[in-house]
Amino acid sequence: QRSNLASTLHSLDGRSYGNYKQIRGSYEFGPVTVFIDRVQVDPFASPSKVRIRINRSEAGFPTDITTDRSDRIAASDFLFRVGDSFLHRNDRRAIILGRPGQEVLERTNVVIDDEGLEARLLVNLPARGRRILGHQAADILTRDVPELAQAMFVHSNLSGDDLREHVQLHRDQQELRNHLGEEGLLAFIGNGAILPRRAGDSDLPMDSSAVAFSSPASLEHTVTLSSGRSLTGMAIPRGVTVIVGGGYHGKSTILRALERGVYPHITGDGREWVITEPSATSIRAEDGRAVTGDDISPFINNLPSGTDTGAFTTTNASGSTSQAANLVEAVEVGARSLLIDEDTSATNFMIRDDRMRALIPANREPITPFVDRIRPLFTRRGVSTVLVAGGSSAFFEVADRVIALDAYVPQEVTETAHELVGVSAADLTGNVEPDSAAVGDHSDVSAPRNPAEAAVETAGEVFTTPQPRIPTAKALRPSSKTKSAKAKGLGQVQFGKAFIDLSAVSQLVDPQQTTGIAEALEYMSEIFDDRVSLTEALAEVEDMLDAQGVDGLTGNRDHPGHVARPRPQEIAAALNRFRGLRLVD
Ligand code: ADP
Ligand code: MG
Repeated sequence: QRSNLASTLHSLDGRSYGNYKQIRGSYEFGPVTVFIDRVQVDPFASPSKVRIRINRSEAGFPTDITTDRSDRIAASDFLFRVGDSFLHRNDRRAIILGRPGQEVLERTNVVIDDEGLEARLLVNLPARGRRILGHQAADILTRDVPELAQAMFVHSNLSGDDLREHVQLHRDQQELRNHLGEEGLLAFIGNGAILPRRAGDSDLPMDSSAVAFSSPASLEHTVTLSSGRSLTGMAIPRGVTVIVGGGYHGKSTILRALERGVYPHITGDGREWVITEPSATSIRAEDGRAVTGDDISPFINNLPSGTDTGAFTTTNASGSTSQAANLVEAVEVGARSLLIDEDTSATNFMIRDDRMRALIPANREPITPFVDRIRPLFTRRGVSTVLVAGGSSAFFEVADRVIALDAYVPQEVTETAHELVGVSAADLTGNVEPDSAAVGDHSDVSAPRNPAEAAVETAGEVFTTPQPRIPTAKALRPSSKTKSAKAKGLGQVQFGKAFIDLSAVSQLVDPQQTTGIAEALEYMSEIFDDRVSLTEALAEVEDMLDAQGVDGLTGNRDHPGHVARPRPQEIAAALNRFRGLRLVD
């Protein structure tokens, strides 16, 4: 059959491009099967879809690291990287496998199933003008593509140790993440971690000038994993953590590392042992975004326009309302911790100083600043916060702990900070949840800590569970039968005729996740029926993804293209930013 495809391609040389369509089908190359699933109609159309596949028995991979679902994600990621470097080393530009980043993500590019291993390629079939370059095409499809399969899928061609280590690292990271959950911890940063990146536009680790992370003694935590690996580093408990320090001392860099710590990182990244609980969500101001029916009343009330902030809708949110919307939306989809940087926050959302409180009476100020809500958010809703605040002491009295950075080295300064504002540790203990079991149990009502908080608490239950938001089916139903959602790079999704701007959604790390979001919107548009809430639809998507993997998101089961699994937080972020979103009253 090899000669079959090769001779067809040779014979097509010089003919018009459309003739390529005859090569659809499957071809055997020794143990490798090449499937040509879709052939592009012209040289400028999206590339042709090709799969390579090998049976397990031929591939010879050890089953102990390719059976468990999570192991398969790690092993697939390893093979993805092997394939990527093979293509680069040999300059095989016509073949597209996708570009790996610093994270290990669940994706469609390479998959391991019960029967075998498979890679999904995109191939640009070569042309001169609109004529087929048949001899080149034969080289690509009957030589280069099978060679790639041999390099990736034949275990004896790989470094088995590297593969095993890749899978083991992923297991250890997962175990550490589970351990954090069990211990009521929100995040862990291992001693020796390299947090800063090479440049603002590079996710690679900073060179040797980086100062390696070292934990303050008071927050140091050691874990021994079942692999025997022992890790020591800074553990951030649940509750309210404030990071302070001079400008340029590395505050934002830590927060950014925590943001990314929801994903596992590869060996050599420097953030291998930066692990954050998986629902942690970065919250920032994002003026100009649309908001549809959010209950932002815990933060904003009595707008001069008389607008109802219990179901707040706008096409153009301000800095503070956008940040409030981002926060309540994150909590709505189950964020158990929030990551907030002063650099990207609206000051009037975060704090209001005493003189301003004296000058502007409370009933003339629609905003209740976050500083007044940060504790009830934890005690009533079980939502923790890690906050960078170098410019104001306002959060000292509501902080369970304060970490100061000095030339990138963290120290715990909780006692000093509490002394400065006249709060003692005892004042706070009553408010700290005893353990993680209480998280999510919103009935935990503890005594208010100080008069200011008492006033807030008696002002009524500010964090009652909001009404579920139910999108109308009509608003989300694509107008045409063709695909209506499409990713445009990392930061934008086209949905029908509208564009959804995701450039402020900072935990989106790979353009393939954006493709995943587009597919998820498409998928969810079939779920909404004027009764299903946004959170119910997201849960349904999660269940499907857990059962079927990312392939299940796409309509095309043979060759789904290159898609990575987004978190539910980022899928919700896209839906919430869709300007066409409408809710059932
Ligand atoms: P801040 O938010 O406190 O103003 P940043 O986190 O933005 O500070 O960091 C300021 C600069 O210092 C950045 O260019 C960052 O890359 C660099 N930096 C941060 N952490 C380290 C570190 N551990 N070692 C070396 N450089 C660092
Ligand atoms: Mg900063």
